[in-house]
Amino acid sequence: MEFRKKRKVDSERRAFNKDWMPKYFFTEIDNKGVCLLCNQSVAVLKEYNISRHYATKHGNYGNNLSEAERQTRATELDRKLARQQKVLEKSTLAQKSSTHASFMVSYHIAKHSKPFSDGEFIKKCMLDVADQVCPEKSQKFEEVSLSRRTLARRIETIGEHLTSQLKGLVP
Ligand SMILES: [Zn+2]
Repeated sequence: MEFRKKRKVDSERRAFNKDWMPKYFFTEIDNKGVCLLCNQSVAVLKEYNISRHYATKHGNYGNNLSEAERQTRATELDRKLARQQKVLEKSTLAQKSSTHASFMVSYHIAKHSKPFSDGEFIKKCMLDVADQVCPEKSQKFEEVSLSRRTLARRIETIGEHLTSQLKGLVP
């Protein structure tokens, strides 16, 4: 019963129709309908769900626009959203690399039984080096968190990870 229900929903899921962009000011991101006016997403790509969002939240928007103007406006909004998405992706990527760097330092500190407070000392040295070598990038080094609290948390995570890996090796 459950299985049949699920299949029904899947088969109802349709592809995004390009006409919905000027019609309801919607675009598609990762298989979801995203409203170009409020950035809210609609999980199921069905015209009913999308048109309902438009009618209830932005019913009057674009009433005075011609069809061509709606198309232009929608395309503009779509481009703007795509740019925002790109900036967001970039910042998540940068965040990932600074988190990774912080894990690496935590690992070295734990492996060599150094006190957690060394993280702050390492950061000071790192920033001084960055200021000399690549001052334009020193902000990136600033973002690598090496406080005692962060190190303690990272080392705990590394420990848990190792424990679960070891447990996996025991038959
Ligand atoms: Zn909306």
